[in-house]
Amino acid sequence: MQAGAPPLRDVAKEVAPERIESGEIQELISEMVRVCKARGVGLAAPQLGTRLRVIVLEDTVEGMSDVSAEELERQKRKPFAVKVIINPELTPLGDSSAAFFEGCLSVAGYRAVVRRHLKVRCRGLGGDGAPVDFVAEGWQARILQHELDHLNGVLYTDRMETRTFRRVDLLDEPLPGDHAEFGRAVVLGESNEPVVRGNASAAEDAEARVKARKNRRR
Ligand code: ZN
Repeated sequence: MQAGAPPLRDVAKEVAPERIESGEIQELISEMVRVCKARGVGLAAPQLGTRLRVIVLEDTVEGMSDVSAEELERQKRKPFAVKVIINPELTPLGDSSAAFFEGCLSVAGYRAVVRRHLKVRCRGLGGDGAPVDFVAEGWQARILQHELDHLNGVLYTDRMETRTFRRVDLLDEPLPGDHAEFGRAVVLGESNEPVVRGNASAAEDAEARVKARKNRRR
């Protein structure tokens, strides 16, 4: 499904643990794993039109073959086997964030810089219904945050550094500089800048910015 399709804007429902072994959920997981392996590093059920809290992710050596070793190192991107997480919950760990380009199968053909927590703890249930609990860092943490957003009706375009939005074939063009109205130029990499939040939490966001400014002065 592409941006504009209603399932991408709805809040997905939790899966009752006793339903996980059902044919319906197992078929959904198989289909999600198939699409994820064919087309990307992560997928959320709403992207297939199913409003359930299920995500899958996988990053392979082949999938990252078009990224330089230096860039993979900067992004803290390492291969990992497929993970299925039902009813995922994320807790950010530490104040560090990372700003890098990301894309989405549901916003085909584009990329933008998105700031994400560098490290998160993920809890939920696996595809077999057993509890999962692990810490993810770097690219895996980014994928988890991106996919969890899908379960809450959020697309990366809601969190992106808007002036970095571009077509994927122009990914390597320079980032825009400082702007009188839109502020400082975006710098890629890790920092203590706060992660961009929705407007409803603007007060909290402002507070985080003050905190980040103080940290920078130290
Ligand atoms: Zn996506």
